Amino acid sequence: MEADTHLIHPHLPLDNTRRFIMDKGEGCLLWDTNGNDYLDATGGLWLAQIGHGRREIGEALSKQASRLEYFTSFWDFTNSSILKLIPTLLELVPSHITDFVFTSGGSESIEAAIKTARYYWYKKGQPEKNWILSRRNAYHGAAYGGGCASGFEADNFGLGPLVPHFRHLTPPHTYRSWLFDGQDPVDFCIAELEQSIEEIGEDNIAAFIGEPLLGVGGMVTPPEGYWPKLEAVLRRHNILLIQDEVVTGFGRTGSWFTCQRYGVQPDIITVAKGITSGYMPMGAAMMRKEIADTVREGIGFPVGYTYSGHPLAATAAAVNLSIIKDEGLVERANTIGDYLAAGLHAALDDLPVVGEVRHAGMAFGIELVKDKQTREPLEPQVAIADEILDEFHVVVRCTNPTIIVMSPPLILSEAQADRIVEAVSTVVGRFRPDGSYEK
Ligand code: PMP
Repeated sequence: MEADTHLIHPHLPLDNTRRFIMDKGEGCLLWDTNGNDYLDATGGLWLAQIGHGRREIGEALSKQASRLEYFTSFWDFTNSSILKLIPTLLELVPSHITDFVFTSGGSESIEAAIKTARYYWYKKGQPEKNWILSRRNAYHGAAYGGGCASGFEADNFGLGPLVPHFRHLTPPHTYRSWLFDGQDPVDFCIAELEQSIEEIGEDNIAAFIGEPLLGVGGMVTPPEGYWPKLEAVLRRHNILLIQDEVVTGFGRTGSWFTCQRYGVQPDIITVAKGITSGYMPMGAAMMRKEIADTVREGIGFPVGYTYSGHPLAATAAAVNLSIIKDEGLVERANTIGDYLAAGLHAALDDLPVVGEVRHAGMAFGIELVKDKQTREPLEPQVAIADEILDEFHVVVRCTNPTIIVMSPPLILSEAQADRIVEAVSTVVGRFRPDGSYEK
């Protein structure tokens, strides 16, 4: 399509001419403009909790668009749609979370969270308490603050000067055991955190930001005890904890929020994606009352977005969340997630290039290696996700760089889970440890 030459696709080189032009979706299936169907094992970009093409949402959006398409929540205005959503959210979020800054997506939510943390300490008379700690291989969006909190160096090349006062620590990627200098990964990460706090000074650090499990970084589930121990250190040093639940929120891992699964109470939680299952762009930075009141006091919170609390986004979120509740999709993330995981383990564990298969609910990471002993990442001679897509019409992604990541809609059927297992295991089974691929 000629128009596509005018479209700048994120992360696609100019000379790449592969294209899949999606035109229709229903449940876990997508159709392109040539009528080919695909099974969506990534849920778009790690969202689509309720699947594609739900009529309930289309109808609710159509009604709302003809009633009130937009009005702002700046100053003393707001709109009835966003106010209807808030009680629903309050029922679902961890009970210590009470207040919301609404946004148009993940990146804006992260910016709001970082600004909230810095401004909170400013209002408390500690403006120098502004450093942000995060981790390598973390992803916190494409804006400048979140981009600097993110830990993929390649994403920041050529974009300098970057925002100062960010420090990146080691992610708890236990399978990559060489990261921890022969020590227990939790002990190593906690000692490194303590040391960074000592070097920078607790009076200079506003917050630690982290995804409960690293999503784009490879669906890396943390080891037992990592988050509670880390939270205890932060509390002792008076440093806020921001958890980025843009991927993991709203049932993805089998709890409404993944901080609940790992037993921590973040001061600020960022969300997006699953809040509407992608039917409208929306996100939020959600926080404790005392933080919200502190940043609102005086001239008011100095951060706002035109589309904060957009009525159509709020409508999509309300219907989406009621579908997740009514259809028991959070519980389903556990049952179908375990089913898919069992299928993947059975088909993959003994293959020579499969190092680790891990999952939490419906978030999956499959780590491919040259050697199961050294755990060195595989260097595949063909693009794994492309092979799976071309031959089996199943959409998966590889990140970091040879970890297959998947996050299908929570409504996935067992037959569709079997199709994913067949596609992934057939293609992965053709790789030899030297990276060669024999069809
Ligand atoms: N945080 C995390 C953990 C994410 O995975 C993403 C997007 N993949 C973002 C933030 C940024 O969200 P958005 O692309 O909606 O700006």
